[in-house]
Amino acid sequence: MSQTETPTPSNFIRNIIQEDVKTNKRGGRVVTRFPPEPNGYLHIGHAKSICLNFGMAAEFGGRCNLRFDDTNPLKEEMEYVESIKEDVRWLGFDWEDREYYASDYFGQLYSFAVQLIEQGHAYVDSLSAEEIREYRGTLTEPGKESPYRNRSATENLDLFERMRAGEFEDGAHVLRVKIDMTSGNLNLRDPTIYRIRKTSHDRTGDRWVIYPMYDYTHCLSDSLEGITHSLCTLEFEDHRPLYDWVLKTLAVYRPQQIEFARLNLSFTLLSKRKLIQLVEGGYVSGWDDPRMPTIQGFRRRGFTPQSIRTFCDRIGVAKRDSIVDLALLEHCLREDLNKSAPRVMGVLKPLKVVIVNYPEEKVEELEAINNPEEPAAGVRQVPFCRELYIERNDFMEDPPKKFFRLAPGREVRLRYAYFIRCEEVIKDADGNIVEVRCTYDPTTRGGDAPDGRKVKATLHWVSARHAIDAEVRLYDRLFNHPHPGGGKTDYTEHINPKSLTVLTDCKLEPSLASAEPESRYQFERLGYFCADRWDSQPGRPAFNRAVTLRDQWAKIAKKGGS
Ligand code: ATP
Ligand code: MG
Repeated sequence: MSQTETPTPSNFIRNIIQEDVKTNKRGGRVVTRFPPEPNGYLHIGHAKSICLNFGMAAEFGGRCNLRFDDTNPLKEEMEYVESIKEDVRWLGFDWEDREYYASDYFGQLYSFAVQLIEQGHAYVDSLSAEEIREYRGTLTEPGKESPYRNRSATENLDLFERMRAGEFEDGAHVLRVKIDMTSGNLNLRDPTIYRIRKTSHDRTGDRWVIYPMYDYTHCLSDSLEGITHSLCTLEFEDHRPLYDWVLKTLAVYRPQQIEFARLNLSFTLLSKRKLIQLVEGGYVSGWDDPRMPTIQGFRRRGFTPQSIRTFCDRIGVAKRDSIVDLALLEHCLREDLNKSAPRVMGVLKPLKVVIVNYPEEKVEELEAINNPEEPAAGVRQVPFCRELYIERNDFMEDPPKKFFRLAPGREVRLRYAYFIRCEEVIKDADGNIVEVRCTYDPTTRGGDAPDGRKVKATLHWVSARHAIDAEVRLYDRLFNHPHPGGGKTDYTEHINPKSLTVLTDCKLEPSLASAEPESRYQFERLGYFCADRWDSQPGRPAFNRAVTLRDQWAKIAKKGGS
């Protein structure tokens, strides 16, 4: 079996869940969650997490919650919440009525903090942020205890209550849990669980001026929702002891945190922070620029939800970090569109062809196959007449040895139509080729010669009289380096200056006049194209090239042998 057909591999998370279900751990329930922070748009890395969380829940008859981790009012916006919901739905997943927000738990989280203070497990610290950092120590040096660490519970309760009431300015105090300032795990050196932030919050308004920190919020949100398996990325491995400590100390229900390797993709940046820089720096047109690795970007580019889900299946889930080849994602799209996308003809860089022996007024409707992979897709008629367009680079006046397409005196096939022979080349005053005159052989209708003579090339074409005008955008990788910003280089130095080519003079077959936004086609010989979600209009479509037809992954897989 070739590598490109490898069935979905099993993974260690599935194995853990399977075992838990078998042993009836936590009543055999499976409840997962996808917990985005609404501080940016989702990217393909998030798709991996979405497919894993929703996928595992579905596989084991469980549920997956959508939970917004909205604890930082400075960076979060409702625009992001809306886009995240749209993206998860578009990928094909449904959280039903389980749309949760960490901010809905602020009241409960506050009560838990009070409980920790009362039990002597938390204290208000009045060191400055900088001092806290100094006292924290390093990987090689233990930390130092804060002079405020031994405040009485009564004093702590009073201060915490007043922090909540807004008596203090940002940074005056924080609430920390009391664990161990000498722990080898820095996350256990009395981590801060609350800070003052006098900023209003999209959902809670001005009700709160203190906000809980991520580590404290996340484990309790999981607990409150009855999550069974809390799947997160590897960088949280060192946070797991804190996750467990908080829940154990409060004696509440304890989910199991399991870490997996995040997705890294070659030629791609996957960090919201950097993606925001690309948007704000004007390197791309927005979060949904078709060159962006966001779900919105891939969608606009022409990727199908299925292709992204297949990709997430194929890459599997592992414990160790690795870098996935972008070519695999593109391969998954080609594989999907090869089955589903109708074939059409479009000429991106037109060169006029006049068939001198074809009657001036005549129009023939020629039968074209919609999808050779899908007989049920049927056929359509494409108009043929005396003046046509072919691709400029399908003609050469003085062809090198290996060029088999149209050239003076040479005969080629026009797809679904006739053999034509180039008789004359017309140039303008500057010597540019503006038109090619040909003759056609009427006996070759449908594309074959009754006398059995062969041609070495088949060209796509459109009828000049019937063609519709269109803009087509050719996208290439945003970065021209497999690891943008790798080493010490600034990633902007790896931006591919040729990542976008806009062609405004394209000629498409008339059936595309009614192309629906987001509909995808294979332009024969050129690649897969998608009618732009926003810019495409009836009669005046705009297409984005999703991928070319050249499948680098299939080549790699073949070479790798199997
Ligand atoms: P980024 O690093 O891009 O800012 P994040 O981890 O801060 O991402 P969150 O909104 O916190 O973004 O992520 C939501 C969920 O998606 C988390 O469970 C996180 O672990 C997961 N996730 C984020 N990036 C990846 C990735 N590259 N691969 C797999 N899962 C990811
Ligand atoms: Mg995060």
